[in-house]
Amino acid sequence: MSNIWSEALEGLEPRLGAQTFDLWLRPIALDKVEDDRLHLTAPNRFMKEWFENHYLGVVLDEIRARTERSFEVEIAVVPDTEEKRATSGTRRACPAPTPTSASEVVLETPSPSSIGERASLDSPAPPSPAPRRAEPPKLSQRYRFKSFIHGSSNDLAASAAWAVAQAPGQRFNPLFIYGGVGLGKTHLLHAIGHHLHETRPELRIALQSAERFMNEFITAVRSNSFDEFRRRYREDCDVLLIDDIQFISGRDRTMDEFFHVFNALYEAGKQIVVTADRVPGDMQGMEERLTSRLNWGLVADVKAPDLETRVAILRQKAEEDGIDLSDEVSLHIAGLIRSNVRELEGALVRVSTFASLKGLEITPDFATSVLGAQTTQRQHAPLTIETIQKLVATHFAIRIADLKGPRRHKGIARPRMIAMYLARELTPASFPEIGLRFGGKDHSTVINACKRIRALQALEPELAANVRTLRQQLCADPLD
Ligand code: ADP
Ligand code: MG
Repeated sequence: MSNIWSEALEGLEPRLGAQTFDLWLRPIALDKVEDDRLHLTAPNRFMKEWFENHYLGVVLDEIRARTERSFEVEIAVVPDTEEKRATSGTRRACPAPTPTSASEVVLETPSPSSIGERASLDSPAPPSPAPRRAEPPKLSQRYRFKSFIHGSSNDLAASAAWAVAQAPGQRFNPLFIYGGVGLGKTHLLHAIGHHLHETRPELRIALQSAERFMNEFITAVRSNSFDEFRRRYREDCDVLLIDDIQFISGRDRTMDEFFHVFNALYEAGKQIVVTADRVPGDMQGMEERLTSRLNWGLVADVKAPDLETRVAILRQKAEEDGIDLSDEVSLHIAGLIRSNVRELEGALVRVSTFASLKGLEITPDFATSVLGAQTTQRQHAPLTIETIQKLVATHFAIRIADLKGPRRHKGIARPRMIAMYLARELTPASFPEIGLRFGGKDHSTVINACKRIRALQALEPELAANVRTLRQQLCADPLD
């Protein structure tokens, strides 16, 4: 019976990806099976709760699919030696984070203890003087965990940032977050700073862009105040948050100084979080000894958000700014602006400003009229799923509503599958996003449709010809 556990995990590994699997599933072990109850162990409470909230459902589904039986689950926390230090105390992490939003997270404040003192956490706490309060770090008020929308595009980075904010200097050190512009790296960095400052005010947190770090370093060298610089970053610092590290590539002396800062903090068990626009190994001009250190901990990426995440971000920003935005308009704007959250925010501000200047209601057409020029110019009028649906419906003489509807009649199901296939081939949309645009179908339906159409093209010349014609028309005239 214990095989079923390892087999289910093996089956899930390709689906979840090796990194997620190693981080969150591998530490969970099957202790015993009693009747219909699985007894699992987790190395600490954080891992237990994270597993329960994020992965237990899929693991149980996988087991059910393999055994046709349903199991209850009990998870005991059994710290192993390696984890022991990290889990002592009463830290409670992320009790109910949902996959879409980190906003409902509630925390118990952990007992104050400096990260540098973690080695002593196992021994009974000495009578401690009232904790000193460190100077508050300079943080943007808006960039907090509660305003960060969690989605598949940023899942690993957001969960790791949250884990670091719970237990700095322990699990992911250094944490390296990378990705394109406007995708939330700086937001996560500040969120870690806010959370740590609120829950552990004694921690000395330094948040700095790599550019500022370099300028301060140069000034310190020139003005003979290097000792003060060194103290600030190497000694009087418990958490170092450095934004856009790629900036110091090729600046030898700054890289050298950062290397020493890194070593000093790392050896003292202090948390380091670094962001960049690419992975450590791809930063030209970055010293190898530095890139290798940046790879020591966890390297997590942020990608362009998918449609659901873009809609959630828009709704949240609208709420923050008191803008009245219907679901229809959110979906519409999220369809127009795909590449980057900063542009998405800019689009919302533009639309709402124009609407209030003109005293008009925000409708999808109004949003298109305000953003139209911007989206066609900057994004070369990307082919949209709507365009594909329109063309496929006309080609097969059926209604768009049928393409989006549930009917399984071959005369409708085939064109629907073709439209899904073309949407996947010709637009950057993800499977879940395509499913959503076809009347809220599950992503597995879209995956199956794509597989079938790929296979059928080899078997049915008529279908292959239809797909070819449609593809030619769509590619010849990519404008809506
Ligand atoms: P980066 O540092 O990756 O260039 P930022 O962190 O500056 O990007 O993000 C750009 C803007 O987008 C910020 O206003 C930020 O609040 C917002 N943003 C990015 N990702 C998210 C997200 N997942 N949820 C909410 N807001 C986000
Ligand atoms: Mg940034």
